[in-house]
Amino acid sequence: MTIDTHHINFAVGPVPIEEEIAAVGGEVIPYFRTAEFSALMKENEALILDAMQAPEGARAVFLTGSGTAAMEAAVLGLYGENDRLLIVNGGSFGKRFCEIASLHKIPYEEISLPFGQPLTKEDLLPYENGGFTAFLVNMGETSSGVLYDMALISDFCRRNSLSLTVDAISTFLADPVEMARWSADAVLTGSQKALATAPGVSVIALSPRAVLRIEATEPKSYYLDLRSALKNGERGQTPYTPAVGILIQINKRLNQLKEMGFDAPVKRTKALADYFRRGIANYPFTVATDAMQNGVTPLKMRGELSAHRLFEILMAEYGIVICPNGGPTRDTHFRVGHIGYHTEEEYDKLFRAFDDLMARGIL
Ligand SMILES: *Cc1c(COP(=O)(O)O)cnc(C)c1O
Repeated sequence: MTIDTHHINFAVGPVPIEEEIAAVGGEVIPYFRTAEFSALMKENEALILDAMQAPEGARAVFLTGSGTAAMEAAVLGLYGENDRLLIVNGGSFGKRFCEIASLHKIPYEEISLPFGQPLTKEDLLPYENGGFTAFLVNMGETSSGVLYDMALISDFCRRNSLSLTVDAISTFLADPVEMARWSADAVLTGSQKALATAPGVSVIALSPRAVLRIEATEPKSYYLDLRSALKNGERGQTPYTPAVGILIQINKRLNQLKEMGFDAPVKRTKALADYFRRGIANYPFTVATDAMQNGVTPLKMRGELSAHRLFEILMAEYGIVICPNGGPTRDTHFRVGHIGYHTEEEYDKLFRAFDDLMARGIL
């Protein structure tokens, strides 16, 4: 069985990986309980904290598991039955935080937003002095493409003395992440989004306050135990066998980004998004939100064609993968990603495919 890997991939993860970084994935996997690998992991931690503009004394742990592992580990490690979480639920990733809290019986309330709507000052008003202890938000709600106003959220958290956990899985390196400025306790990301490495590793950056909280709390999960991850991380190790190859890939990528400056990928993503958004005006799609993250453009079909059918046709007949929506917007919306190793020429090819579909009377 072989899978065609020559599609142009506009999905929002896994994203296209630069050749030099992808090549690392093909190398022989070394043994990892070594001083050399420990040094690499310490470097990964320092670089990712730097890229997240983390405060002095912050720590980062690398988990073997996709982004959702980081979401669950952060909730379990930082919060418990004595907390009252306030969760922004504007799509499938906000819903995921709610489901994690619900499964683990951590009290929460959700701010339920209509699909594609940003969070406003007015939305937060009813929750001022509401007796909450923590605020959880997906900085970019990737399912709708909405970017939430982090200044608004961090002000609200400061005013109400709330611990803040930010899922920056699709925004880290695509929109500015400023952990210290937001006074965030946890910021999450994953290897297969704008970091543009293979899927399988997720990261949690923790404020000094969060580290203390974790160290003082009994773990509630064996594998996702952050206390043990932090302890092992002190010597550049992980409790169990990590995704060694991906961590080496991440190291190469972070060093590459450090050389360019960590704002370089943000600028690049924004430039690609702008290029695409300028070009899209000629086609029967409507941009589905006013508050877009740089990493993805959400689009709503204006014509009859199902968005999911468009995804199938583009893949089968043009070798192009757009990002399909799921759930109730499966047939009305689709998304085009801008994170990963993309070029303007790739978007030109997508535009030519749209032109062709219009000429054929399909679009
Ligand atoms: C991709 C993503 C996740 C994690 O999804 P996984 O499939 O578990 O990696 C979580 N939150 C957001 C906002 C995402 O974009």
